[in-house]
Amino acid sequence: MTDSSTLRQAQGDASLNAKIVEPTLFDLSSPGRVGVSFPDPDVPRAELPESLLRADLPLPELAEVDVVRHYMRLSQFNYSVDGGFYPLGSCTMKYNPKINEDTCRLPGFTATHPLQPIETVQGNLALMFTLQEWLKEISGFAAVTLQPAAGAHGELTGVLIMRAYHKARRDAKRVKMLIPDAAHGTNPASSAMSGLQVMQIPSDARGNVDLAALRSACDETVVGLMLTNPNTLGLFDEHIEEVVKIVHDCGGLMYGDGANLNALLGILRPADVGFDVMHFNLHKTFAVPHGGGGPGSGPVGVAAHLADFLPAPIVGIVEEGSDEEPPLFGFITPAKTIGRVKAFHGQFGALVRAFTYIAMHGPDGLREIAEYAVLNANYLLARLRKTYHVPYDRICMHEFVAEGKVEGSDVRALDIAKRLMDYDFHPPTNYFPHIVHEALMIEPTETENKDTLDRFADALIKIAEEAKAQPELLHDAPTKTPFGRMDEVKAARELVLCCWLPEDYEKK
Ligand SMILES: *Cc1c(COP(=O)(O)O)cnc(C)c1O
Repeated sequence: MTDSSTLRQAQGDASLNAKIVEPTLFDLSSPGRVGVSFPDPDVPRAELPESLLRADLPLPELAEVDVVRHYMRLSQFNYSVDGGFYPLGSCTMKYNPKINEDTCRLPGFTATHPLQPIETVQGNLALMFTLQEWLKEISGFAAVTLQPAAGAHGELTGVLIMRAYHKARRDAKRVKMLIPDAAHGTNPASSAMSGLQVMQIPSDARGNVDLAALRSACDETVVGLMLTNPNTLGLFDEHIEEVVKIVHDCGGLMYGDGANLNALLGILRPADVGFDVMHFNLHKTFAVPHGGGGPGSGPVGVAAHLADFLPAPIVGIVEEGSDEEPPLFGFITPAKTIGRVKAFHGQFGALVRAFTYIAMHGPDGLREIAEYAVLNANYLLARLRKTYHVPYDRICMHEFVAEGKVEGSDVRALDIAKRLMDYDFHPPTNYFPHIVHEALMIEPTETENKDTLDRFADALIKIAEEAKAQPELLHDAPTKTPFGRMDEVKAARELVLCCWLPEDYEKK
């Protein structure tokens, strides 16, 4: 159809730096090839309306096998949790047990519709109700909504609940959200989207919230504090009870960013420490695939004084059961609800996966998850701290942050991260949190064995040697992947999301 595609042009482009030329479906197209075969119709043929037929659409013509091989090849350019070690800090890229995929594909779950009468979907509702109960038990909160579609969406929901709580008490002066400098960017974003002012609180030398700064910021204009604990340095705040007390004493609420719950499962319930509201990331802590792998899910738990504000509806028992009859599950609208935050009832497939994961592990298994996650991170920290400087160096939780620098070399965190790809590892998170220069944030998760952790530590130690002896190996990395080092600024500024465009396509 065309002999020069935009992908090929893009591959000549420095921002992509491709080592292979991957033909597009249009390049592979040949007139007359087809990928479908319809049986002869057993009804008279009808002419399609002229308006539906678009002869001008340049569609490729291919057999089924051509299309399958094309996409299979493209999929293999990607790195995945199923393909290798993925220590992307803060993201908890743990292995997703395949039984979760089996259960969420059961026809009783996939062949139902959210608008069906509740009597016909009692199994689905029972699953959601039970998951709410389990999340309450795991976190210590009094009530849970499963609606939010991701962690950031859970934050928005939680912050709107905090705002509604103050408003219901006619406490209109509260407009300020306190957020530590180590926080994930979604925290200030959720607060700003809720119409609040954001005030940054510094960290102290040990990576805790700076108590003096917090004390002086706390007044009658404070909505609350959004805190990730363990924080994004992988450190448990050593004064957590004091932090909670300061915020509560000035009338503020404690928001818990639950992205790091993996370190606490079965050991500490955030509500017991005094958090008032928290989101869960089912796609981190409870193994639901994320990133390119599927939609996330960010349920929110609240303490009793916030339960009336939860989004509507939540799943509840609408008719008590008896010895002979099971209870009837249905939908309940909390008295002062902030309203709906999502169509229907959340990412149901993600809920089934998380339910399966929790059921498979049970209470003792959940605790072991946290213990091994923390053990694995501390093992890597112990093997690497002599090679890479760790600015906040104390026993970590499920992740830690090192500096991506090597003495006597000009390499940066980015170079180290890219070189790791040549050793078949996914790079750690880099340049976050911002309070560490050249940050490399490493989270092994509990699903990795000691051999994998050792291979990874060996690779990072070898890379530090290369950085001194042959720094160009790092500057030029990755060299073994289908695409080389990207010009990330150019790729972001001149984003090409479509791999093929007709030659006469005009940029709008
Ligand atoms: C992942 C993460 C979030 C946001 O969660 P999403 O599900 O990606 O929206 C918020 N805070 C922290 C610390 C995180 O790691």
